[in-house]
Amino acid sequence: MKRKYDYIVVGGGSAGAILGDRLSADGKHSVLVLEAGRSDYPWDLFIQMPAALMYPAGNPLYDWRYKSDPEPHMHGRQIAHARGKVLGGSSSINGMIYQRGNPLDYERWGADPGMDTWDFAHCLPYFKRMENALDSPNDDMRGHDGPIKLTRGPATNPLFEAFFNAASEAGHMRTPDVNSYQQEGFGPFDRHIYKGQRLSTSHAYLRPAMHRENLDVETRAFVTKINFEGTRAKGLIFRKGKKEYIVEADEIILAGGAFNTPQLLQLSGVGEAEHLQSLGIDPVVDLPGVGENLQDHLEVYIQYSCPKPVSEMPSLNKAKMPFIGLQWILNKTGPVASSHFEGGGFIRSNDDVDYPNLMYHFLPLAVRYDGQKADTKHGFQVHVGPMYSDARGRLRIKSKDPNEHPSILFNYLSTEQDRREWVEAVRRTREIMKQPSMEPYNSGEISPGPNVQTDEEILDWVARDAETALHPSCTAKMGPESDPMAVVDPHTMKVHGLENVRVADASVMPYITNGNIHAPVLMLAEKAADLILGRKPLEPEYVDFYRHEKETKKETVEV
Ligand SMILES: Cc1cc2nc3c(=O)[nH]c(=O)nc-3n(C[C@H](O)[C@H](O)[C@H](O)COP(=O)(O)OP(=O)(O)OC[C@H]3O[C@@H](n4cnc5c(N)ncnc54)[C@H](O)[C@@H]3O)c2cc1C
Repeated sequence: MKRKYDYIVVGGGSAGAILGDRLSADGKHSVLVLEAGRSDYPWDLFIQMPAALMYPAGNPLYDWRYKSDPEPHMHGRQIAHARGKVLGGSSSINGMIYQRGNPLDYERWGADPGMDTWDFAHCLPYFKRMENALDSPNDDMRGHDGPIKLTRGPATNPLFEAFFNAASEAGHMRTPDVNSYQQEGFGPFDRHIYKGQRLSTSHAYLRPAMHRENLDVETRAFVTKINFEGTRAKGLIFRKGKKEYIVEADEIILAGGAFNTPQLLQLSGVGEAEHLQSLGIDPVVDLPGVGENLQDHLEVYIQYSCPKPVSEMPSLNKAKMPFIGLQWILNKTGPVASSHFEGGGFIRSNDDVDYPNLMYHFLPLAVRYDGQKADTKHGFQVHVGPMYSDARGRLRIKSKDPNEHPSILFNYLSTEQDRREWVEAVRRTREIMKQPSMEPYNSGEISPGPNVQTDEEILDWVARDAETALHPSCTAKMGPESDPMAVVDPHTMKVHGLENVRVADASVMPYITNGNIHAPVLMLAEKAADLILGRKPLEPEYVDFYRHEKETKKETVEV
């Protein structure tokens, strides 16, 4: 390690791994990536084997194990939040589902003051730069030679086809590719799984770059504070083992994710001045937006038992695991070569919304994310929940101690719109599941079960049972300096009021996107790399995409 670097990237996670590669690629800049977690060893089965995804979450060897404060609208439950603490970050422990989100998500970003360079036309070239959509070789809206190799579905279990057909029977559409012209509808999903293995950003970007002389990567290096001289960062402090190190940098780029980035800013004196002073921290910049605007996706598992022996439930049988595991070790094939998140869909739950507000993941097994199986021999489930809820939360440090987790509150279920969409989510699901195509496979709803019928019963069940879909974001949102709650400049990724500290991770989103958010974070990091290097951003691509035509209600006037 050197004493000083051109760029120090805090966090070697999903975005950080991309930045480490892109910023060092031309050999001109010295780059240090500091990652608090361990290495993502190529032989670590819990990372590389797709179906092992339930093991790292909750395990301190891989996971920061955050928890929300008691959520006031969820019977005071504290919601567990896994976050990858390993090279590759959450990209190394996530469900590997690849969703760009709806083009209208980015039109919404771009419509905010000062955000015009983040509309869909400006984001699309960066999605394409990172992707290699192997199952869409002729689609101009998809990328074909980027580092993130994507494989679709395959969603060949008969339950998928029955579910997709049932969705059509219930009045919803099919779509060939949710990441292309039309997101709305049902079909197989892309995953960052290649040749039967997880393809994290660490493996796609950082590891291939690690031989470069101008790139250093330190693991188990926990950054605790940025050192400032006025509003200019001189460098930072990190802990490794029992030792503390100081490194200097021309530029510091925060990529610790939606929880750690605002935490580190606040610990370093960047946040709401009054809050910082109350903890004995001298404010460097009074920036009230740091840690605010927190957004996430909450989801439920609606589970069914299946009378036919077609589900993937037997692959969860412990007695079979050694054989299934061996098959994967030898050939990278078999049931554990998939995360089982192979397909689903997007719908509009009511006529008021312009574009889908509910996402479905269909699984040909009935098992919670923590590995808890439903009490049935064969079964299946959907994961569903609102995608752009108007509930907003916040994150605040509780003390000067970087090891103490911050206070995090999401305010799930706190708004009228959110509650309404939750009721619709359960009702729309039940409509699909009672269609003729599902009939041979559906022998009854296990969860929530037939006793949950009224709006109140549904909301009560959601409050008791829902879990996070693990998409915390938006805690250091991009926006112009004139917006008092904006934290990051959309043209440079610099933190307002600071000279040389930038952010590029899930924190900078102004609004959460409609779908899993890993792909949008990678797109952000790709674009941020160009902005940080002062390169001309890729030219915007103006393309046509699907928009639902709203029916105009005819008013009858009685004379
Ligand atoms: C279990 C799980 C399943 C998920 N499934 C999906 C899915 O299937 N599809 C999808 O699209 N999204 C999924 N997500 C969400 C998605 O993976 C994340 O939103 C995304 O990866 C966040 O990227 P990031 O770069 O902002 O943060 P991260 O990838 O979390 O990276 C942050 C990195 O910074 C490091 N770090 C933090 N603080 C410090 C510090 N002080 N010093 C040094 N290093 C630090 C962390 O250890 C971590 O490596 C899932 C997330 C989880 C946790």
